[in-house]
Amino acid sequence: MKPILSFEISIVFDDKCPKPGFIPGFGFSALIFNHFTGEFSLFDTGGKSNVLIHNIKKFNVDISSIKHVIISHNHYDHARGLEGIIQINPSVNIYVPINDLKSFSRKFPNSRIHGISEMIEIEKNLVSSGQIKDFIPEQSVFLKTKENELIILVGCAHPGLEKFITKAQSIAKIKAIIGGFHGFRKLSYLEDIELIGACHCSRNINLFKKSFPGQFKRICLGDNYSF
Ligand SMILES: [Zn+2]
Ligand SMILES: [Zn+2]
Repeated sequence: MKPILSFEISIVFDDKCPKPGFIPGFGFSALIFNHFTGEFSLFDTGGKSNVLIHNIKKFNVDISSIKHVIISHNHYDHARGLEGIIQINPSVNIYVPINDLKSFSRKFPNSRIHGISEMIEIEKNLVSSGQIKDFIPEQSVFLKTKENELIILVGCAHPGLEKFITKAQSIAKIKAIIGGFHGFRKLSYLEDIELIGACHCSRNINLFKKSFPGQFKRICLGDNYSF
């Protein structure tokens, strides 16, 4: 039987428009609840463990119940909070771009760290884009809804957001994209996307807002979205 909802996404690390009680910080992290599996996953971990843990607890989620952590790329504002998660939940599965596997394994020798190269389904309907090779290798996450549409979560999109969009389009229609767009401004790639949620490091938030007034969504720390 298909669940009524597919995914819930809670923003647990960012410095944008914090909701009361949440601690802002530079970086990005989103908590994912997968209704197909009943499991929590974390996409990126922000820049500070204690801030991340505080914000996750605000959603009444037990850190030790998180099953997977997907790290988009090896920058401190996405990876540094991992340490605190591992301390509480040492058996969590961690997925990093394959080029960063050595560096993470050295830092966390007793952890379950997997290097990602190709696109792979981590658990039902939760897919890693695979590593996009670049000066800064990066992966994003594609969440496939029961309507067979994709929600993209993206860290900084250093290799170019269009590369993640093109890859996602090869498997299904994109419904929403949330995260750091960095310097991206190739607007034509965003035209058919229902929800454009540029946050974190996105430099052109005002341009997206102006160009796509009906699709642009201001993403705030402490927000929760259901799909
Ligand atoms: Zn970055
Ligand atoms: Zn970043």
